[in-house]
Amino acid sequence: MSFDGLWDELVAVGRNPGTGGYRRYAWDAAELECREWFVAAASRRGLDVEADGNGNLWAWWGDPAVGGAVVVGSHLDSVPDGGAFDGPLGVVSAFAAIDVVRSRGIVPTRPVGVVAFSDEEGARFGVACVGSRLLTGALSPDRARSLADDSGTTMADAMRAAGHDPHRVGPEPDRLGRIGYFVELHVEQGRVRPVATGAAVPTTDDPHGLVELGAPVGVATAIWPHGRWRVDLPGRADHAGTTRLRDRADPMLALAAVVLGAREAAVRHDTLATIGKVDVRPGGVNAIPSHVTAWLDARGEDEARVRSLVADVAELAPGDDPQSSLTEESWTPATVFDVELRDRVAALLDDVPLLPTGAGHDAGVLAAAGIRSGMLFVRNPTGVSHSPAEHADHDDCLAGVEALARVIEDLASAG
Ligand SMILES: [Zn+2]
Repeated sequence: MSFDGLWDELVAVGRNPGTGGYRRYAWDAAELECREWFVAAASRRGLDVEADGNGNLWAWWGDPAVGGAVVVGSHLDSVPDGGAFDGPLGVVSAFAAIDVVRSRGIVPTRPVGVVAFSDEEGARFGVACVGSRLLTGALSPDRARSLADDSGTTMADAMRAAGHDPHRVGPEPDRLGRIGYFVELHVEQGRVRPVATGAAVPTTDDPHGLVELGAPVGVATAIWPHGRWRVDLPGRADHAGTTRLRDRADPMLALAAVVLGAREAAVRHDTLATIGKVDVRPGGVNAIPSHVTAWLDARGEDEARVRSLVADVAELAPGDDPQSSLTEESWTPATVFDVELRDRVAALLDDVPLLPTGAGHDAGVLAAAGIRSGMLFVRNPTGVSHSPAEHADHDDCLAGVEALARVIEDLASAG
């Protein structure tokens, strides 16, 4: 099976020996090595390789100019100390699936493409799905070019250093217009309950995730609506040793109420709420803070529930201080994948489970741009992702390749 060979070539690239996690950030040395691997894998298969203006890599079996192409793939970059599977599993499986289709002597009537989208995780420049968003026009070229990493290097500079002209970034409607279908295979992240297809409505007690459902592969239904909010909690700086408790205006207490309240509200509205970033000023061990800023990430099955959660948190945030506030920094509505494609793929794969996801993906960006898009998930026994603990069993990876091969066969021979 060609999967193993492809996987083994890539597995050491960008792996940190200390943590065992991957550090493949947009346009850095490890990520460029992944790009070289992509070009080599495509060339060995006689596929035509090209980089588009946004740094996304494409490998073609057949002439994409024909149109109606079936594109499969994912991304190669990682979060800091990410797992081996998030992204690369989809790209490796795409090449391996083409090998399977060819080994069966099938000649597609539509062009088939493998894509590796650039900078999906946004680990270096802080914005996710940069390659696909630039391609579809959802991210402005000027904004992308001026994004800077922690050392002050802009994306434009990073591109230039890697030999890519930053002036080429921007929407490519012609390229998008040649895509008939995009199917992204991805490692399962978390354990979500499946979506009801018949009369039975799943309850919280029903099995969650592909492990509990006993299925190696699932099909995505939708990406949950999600957003980010900034919570500002002002206080008054003072001495930790000389200020009586009753004389303090300590915003850290308000933060504690917000953190616990967000958790309770998330349970109440059956959503997810996370406060994973906090900025405390001035940040001294022996100083009562003058100001605390926290960021709330909220997601859920539908917008109404997420909005209710955020409204509840907003009530906690002000406390007694009119200066306190909760500000929306970003909002992404639900992305529902093409229902016809979803049902066709699920039926093709013998009615595999249908699952929503709380994570953003390039497939969601393309779906939002009107491309018929879908996703396959490969079972992750721990559900853990964005961590070295992320895992997929070898047999499940091969089941994913087989599923993707069947999808390519079916879609690429469709009229
Ligand atoms: Zn991913």
